[in-house]
Amino acid sequence: MDTQPIGSHFIGGLYVEDRAGELIEVVYPATGKVIARLHSATPSIISRALESAKSAQKIWAAMTGTQRGRVLRRAADIIRDRNHELSVLETYDTGKPYQETSVADATSGADSLEYFGGLAGSITGEHIQYGEDFIYTVREPLGVCVGIGAWNYPTQIACWKGAPALACGNSMVFKPSETTPLSALKVAEILMEAGAPAGLYNVIQGYGDVGAALVGDPRVDKVSLTGSVPTGRKVYAAAADGMKHVTLELGGKSPIIIFDDADIEAAVSGAILGNFYSSGQVCSNGTRVFVHKDIKQAFLKRLTERVSKAVIGDPMDPDTSFGPMVSKTQRDIVLGYIDQGVKEGATLVTGGKVIEGDGFFIQPTVFADVTDDMVIAREEIFGPVMAVLDFEDEGDVLARANDTEFGLAAGVFTQDLTRAHRVVARFEAGTCYINTYNDAPVEAPFGGTKMSGVGRENSKDALNHYSQSKSVYVRMSDLEAPF
Ligand code: NAD
Repeated sequence: MDTQPIGSHFIGGLYVEDRAGELIEVVYPATGKVIARLHSATPSIISRALESAKSAQKIWAAMTGTQRGRVLRRAADIIRDRNHELSVLETYDTGKPYQETSVADATSGADSLEYFGGLAGSITGEHIQYGEDFIYTVREPLGVCVGIGAWNYPTQIACWKGAPALACGNSMVFKPSETTPLSALKVAEILMEAGAPAGLYNVIQGYGDVGAALVGDPRVDKVSLTGSVPTGRKVYAAAADGMKHVTLELGGKSPIIIFDDADIEAAVSGAILGNFYSSGQVCSNGTRVFVHKDIKQAFLKRLTERVSKAVIGDPMDPDTSFGPMVSKTQRDIVLGYIDQGVKEGATLVTGGKVIEGDGFFIQPTVFADVTDDMVIAREEIFGPVMAVLDFEDEGDVLARANDTEFGLAAGVFTQDLTRAHRVVARFEAGTCYINTYNDAPVEAPFGGTKMSGVGRENSKDALNHYSQSKSVYVRMSDLEAPF
C-alpha cells in the first residue's frame, strides 16, 4: 500500500502542501521504518483551513438536517465498503493489529457517521407555553469547530468529533496527532466524496503549536480535544480566553473491582480487554485491577495462562492479537514504569520485557501485590501494564478505587446484582461497566469526571455540545410599559 498522501493537508476539498512547514516523519511502529513524510501546517495553511471552514459552514447550515444526514450516512457506507483498505492504513499509522483495526476503528467511525446522520433531521428546539404567550427555542450550530486528536484511535477520533459537529450544522478543522496523521485525511476525502461541500471538513497536520494556534484563533467557536491531562489544561485555559465551547476527553487510571463471587473467566476477559487491547493504549483502560483476596491465586493463574496465548508479531497477520507500542518514545515511557514497579516491590507475574527487533514491542505485563501508593497504581501508563491489587472489604475497596484524580471509567465483576448496582452508584466515573469492560458504542455517552475531562462524546448528549439554543419570546397580548 502507498502510505504517502499526495499532500499533507486536506483543505477546501483538496490535498494541499506547504513544504515550509516542519517535517513530520510517519513511522510504522512494527518495523521502525519511515512510511510517509508530511509537513506541519504553516500560519498560511492554518488560515486557509479556517477560512474554508467558515465559508462551507454557511452553505452546510442552510441545508436541511435530512440533507446533512444523508451525506453523513453516505460517508458511513463508503467507509464500510473500504474497511479493508482503511484498516490496513490504520495499522500502518498506529501499529495496532489488523485483527483489531478491521473491526474497531473505521467501523466505529462509520457507526458514528451513521448514528449522527440519522439524528441530523431531528435536531429541534422546543415550544414553551407561557400563559397566552409562548417561547420557542432553536438549536443552532456553533460555527467552526476544531478537533484535536490523540494517536491511539485516529480514524475513530476524527469521526467521533466530526460526525456530531457536522450533524448540528457546524464545519470542522481537524488536527490529528503528529504521531498518526494519515487516517484522518481519508475521512476528509470520503466526506467530500459523499457530497459534503468543499471545506466542510478540513484536516491540517502539526505538532502542539498548530493545535494551540487553532485553539487561540478568534475564527474558532468550539474545541474538542482527545489527549492527556496536561494538554487538556492548556487547551481549556486558552479556550477560556476566547470564551469558546470545549469538550475534553482526557486520561484515566480506572479501577476494575473483581469480587469473590465473580465468574473468573469473565473477569479475566474484562481485565485483558481493559489492559491489553491496542497494546494498552486506551484511555478508559482499567489498569488498577482490585481482586478479592480469596480468588487472587485462581485469578492470577488463569490470567497468566491466557496472557501467554497472546499472538505478538506482524500486525498485518490476521492471527496477531497484540501489536507494538505506537512509538519508541511511548515504549520507553512504559519501560520506565515497568522498572519503577519492580523497584517499588510489586511482583512481576508475567511480561515486563522488550521484544527484540526493530519494532516497538513490549510484552503484556502483569504486576501483583501492587499497593495504592505505588507510582504504577497512581499514574496513567498508557501501555500494556496491569496492576493487580488485593482487597477484602467492599467499602474499603470503593474508597480506594475512587482515590484518584481521574474519573473516566470503572468496572465491577460480581454475580450479585444488588452489589453491582450499589458499587456502580458510588463509582466516581463517567462510564461504568458491570461484568464487561471497555465497550464504547456510539449510542451511549462517553466521557470523564474529575481530571478525565469535560463534556461527553457520542449519543444524543453530544448534540448539546455542538449546538446552542436560542430562545425566542412571542407576545400574544398587549405590551405594557411603566411610562
Ligand atoms: P497529547 O496530550 O500529548 O496530545 C494530544 C493532541 O494534542 C495531539 O494532537 C497534540 O499535537 C495536541 N497538542 C499538544 N499540545 C497542545 C496544545 N498546547 N494546544 C493544542 N493542542 C495540543 O496526548 P497523546 O499522547 O496524543 O495521547 C495520549 C493521551 O490521550 C492519554 O493521556 C490518553 O489517556 C488520552 N486519551 C483520551 C481518550 C478519551 O477519550 N478520554 C482517548 C484516547 C486518548
